[in-house]
Amino acid sequence: MPASTQPDVMDKLVSLAKRRGFIFQSSEIYGGAGSVWDYGPLGVELKKNLKDAWWHAMVRLRDDIEGLDAAILMHPRVWEASGHVAGFTDPLVDCRTCKGRFRADKLQDARCPQKPSKRPGEAEQCQLTEPRLFNLMFKTFMGPVEESAATVYLRPETAQGIFVNFLNVQQSTRQKVPFGIAQIGKAFRNEITPGNFIFRTREFEQMEMQFFVEPGTDMEWFQFWKEERMRWHQGLGLAAARLNYHEHQGSELAHYARAAFDIEFDFGGTLGFQEVEGIHNRGDFDLSRHQEYSGKKLEYFDQPKNKRYLPYVIETSVGADRTTLALLVNAYREETVQGEEEGRTVLRLSPSLAPIKAAVFALTKKDGMPEMAHRIASSLRQHFPTDYDETGSIGKRYRRQDEVGTPFCITVDGESVKDGTVTVRDRDTLSQDRIAADAVRDYVRERIA
Ligand code: ATP
Repeated sequence: MPASTQPDVMDKLVSLAKRRGFIFQSSEIYGGAGSVWDYGPLGVELKKNLKDAWWHAMVRLRDDIEGLDAAILMHPRVWEASGHVAGFTDPLVDCRTCKGRFRADKLQDARCPQKPSKRPGEAEQCQLTEPRLFNLMFKTFMGPVEESAATVYLRPETAQGIFVNFLNVQQSTRQKVPFGIAQIGKAFRNEITPGNFIFRTREFEQMEMQFFVEPGTDMEWFQFWKEERMRWHQGLGLAAARLNYHEHQGSELAHYARAAFDIEFDFGGTLGFQEVEGIHNRGDFDLSRHQEYSGKKLEYFDQPKNKRYLPYVIETSVGADRTTLALLVNAYREETVQGEEEGRTVLRLSPSLAPIKAAVFALTKKDGMPEMAHRIASSLRQHFPTDYDETGSIGKRYRRQDEVGTPFCITVDGESVKDGTVTVRDRDTLSQDRIAADAVRDYVRERIA
């Protein structure tokens, strides 16, 4: 993993996210729930835009991928077949001195809670236990009786909902291999050391796609998806220099995987380059296990070739929350502004992802300006998220919008009331165009697509 050359903006982002309504700590008034986060008014828009971008690219634009929304709770045998009951574990070590709990394989990323300048095991009196395996699945009970026969799990990944529906989707849509199934949904992992804001949480959303291919064509498709997914991340506006492939080798490669790459993003500071998406060639591991455990044939019949086989699976699995964090880290800037002492904080989010697309201001609260600005704002709101603001100086209002990444600010001034024109100010270039109020909708729409 290459070292990061980017600054650590995490603390500043956590504070901005709370102050401006992107992300709040869950159950904050009770002291917070461990590493669970709530998305506020702006955060929910940003994450939704990200999920829509994924759905558009993976499902809507392709005729060989179908969408799915499988339930979180599944038959408990699913998790035996998938290997999660026996093997979805992380090695856990305890510190006898500070009582901290750490993932043995991630000690290099952890900090001693008592001496944050040291890693666990580094401080003199620090005594770590031998690693023991800890299953990350959350257990609960189905129905009113809390007995082991009623145990169910909150899914730790969305993929299994796709595997068990492979034939349902294939037969109902009459798709031919190669084809894929995509879904977005919640996953739950009782992580030993969650943290770094929404980077590693216990409840999160995944966007996963399983592409079913004929054995023998798998490495070609693996290569295709590896490149395609990197292009997608770049298309979100993530800087190319902050993106990287990491190949799984040796013991890192899961026993069933034929090949695996992570797409990593440079989160800056000590976190540095970390996985945001995994691309895996899973062979026929999943379908063959479900076939064995369910006793139901899951083979695909290839009519033209007159043969039956279990397809191999190329999986692309990306975290919606982790990518939201990548977008925020990538977009965050503190800039000086010519002629202004204070400077500004700006989120240079891609306009298509920005939570608010346009903000409308009345220069002053008189001479018909607020009425005209309200009219413009409510007509723009029919087409994209639009804010209205009439408080504070225009400079302050620009700063408020910059800080949440709004790409366009529209000001109604004295001239507007007379000749029907307004100014449109661009977040990134700070340039201002004077255009007809009637043309604002198309002006913004063309630039946020
Ligand atoms: P890690 O090694 O970071 O725990 P993983 O290799 O177990 O991750 P996968 O099972 O491949 O992760 O999950 C695919 C994607 O789901 C990850 O790339 C990440 O974006 C997201 N993800 C996984 N676990 C979490 C989590 N606890 N919190 C937020 N996102 C997660």
